[in-house]
Amino acid sequence: MDSVLRELEQISSGVFREVITGSSYEGRCIRVFRGGSGRVKVLAWSQMHGNEPTSTLALMDAMRYLEQGGSEAAEILSLLTVIAIPMLNPDGYIRYDRRNAQGIDVNRDAQSLISPEARLLMKVWEDYKPDFALNLHDQETRYTSLQPLTPSLLAMLAPECNYEKSVTPARERAMKAIAAISDDLQGIAAGRIAKYDDVYTPTAFGDTFMKMGTSSILIEAGSEPDDPRRNKPRSAMSKAIISALRVMASGRYNDYDIQQYDRLPLNKDFDGYDLLIKGIKVIDPLGDYTTDIAIRRVKTSCNQEDFADDFDDFRILNIGCLGDMPAVKTVDWQGYTLRGSHSDIYIGRKADIETATPDGEIINVLNLLKTDQH
Ligand SMILES: [Zn+2]
Repeated sequence: MDSVLRELEQISSGVFREVITGSSYEGRCIRVFRGGSGRVKVLAWSQMHGNEPTSTLALMDAMRYLEQGGSEAAEILSLLTVIAIPMLNPDGYIRYDRRNAQGIDVNRDAQSLISPEARLLMKVWEDYKPDFALNLHDQETRYTSLQPLTPSLLAMLAPECNYEKSVTPARERAMKAIAAISDDLQGIAAGRIAKYDDVYTPTAFGDTFMKMGTSSILIEAGSEPDDPRRNKPRSAMSKAIISALRVMASGRYNDYDIQQYDRLPLNKDFDGYDLLIKGIKVIDPLGDYTTDIAIRRVKTSCNQEDFADDFDDFRILNIGCLGDMPAVKTVDWQGYTLRGSHSDIYIGRKADIETATPDGEIINVLNLLKTDQH
C-alpha cells in the first residue's frame, strides 16, 4: 500500500478519537478525529487538493506529537480541542490530481457545496464552530526572494474575508498567530517563510470560514533542493502546526502585531531557468560553435493544475548569448564540448544531452538536473 495511505490507516485511537467517518464521492473513507478537551477549538484539515500529500504527512506528524505525550502536549490538549481531518480528498489523491472525483476543486466549493468533501468540511465547521482553522496545502516550487534564489520552505496566509481586505478581529488574530509561528520557526526556516500572495476568493474555505468568524490560517508546504519527497518541508510544516497549536493554546499571538505578518516576504513565482550552461562548444557536422544553453523543467501534462515539480521533463528553452538570464544554477562550461546535431540541440527538445569535460569525463545534463533539485 502507498505509504501515505498506510500512515493514515495507522492513526491510533488514543488521544485522537474518530468522531465522524465521512465519505468521498467515490466512497472512500474520510476520517475526522477529535483530541483534547480545551475551550479553544481548532479545526485542521489537509489535502483538500489530492496532489498535495506533504500536508497530510505533516498533520499526522503533529497528531503523533500530541499522542506521544509529554508535558507540553498535555498542556496543549488541556487548553485546545483539536479536530483533524487528514486527507479531505482521497479520490484526488488516488488520481494524484488537485480535484475530487467529480472534477470539482474542493477549495472553490465552499459556497455551492456540490462535492461531498466540501459538505463534510462545512458540517464539521457547523458541529464545532472552531475559533481557529488550519488549512494545509503543498505548493509548487516558488521563490521568496530573487537573490539568492531560494524556494519558500513554507508559505502562510491569513485570507481576506471581503474585497476591502478588512482586518476583522478573526483576521487580526490569524495575522498575529502567523507572525508568532514564523518567529518560532526562525531556527529552521529563516528567510524562507513567505506570505502567500492571494486575493479574496469567496468560494474558498479559508476565506469563507474567516468571514464566519474563524481565524483561518493557510499553510503551504514549499520545496527544498535535493529533496524530491519534500522531507524538509514536511518537517517544517509539522513544526509550524505544533507551533500554531502552542500559540493558540497560550494566546501568545497577542504579543505580536500585524505589521510583523505584513513584513513577511511575498511568495514569488520564478520566471527563469533551472540551469544555464554558459560557453559550451557544440561539435556539429555543419560547423562548430560556442553558445549558452538554458534549460527548464516543464509540465508534460495538459492539466495546468498539475505541479511541474512532479515531472522530470527538462527542455532546452533558449540558445544563444544569454548573458545574465536568471537561473537557479549557472555553470560556466568553457572548454566543455557537446557532440550532436544542431537540429537535436534545439528549442523545445529534451535536455537529454551528454557533454564532455576538458578531462574527457562524460556528464549527462538530465541526470545532473534530476538529482540537483526537486
Ligand atoms: Zn492546495
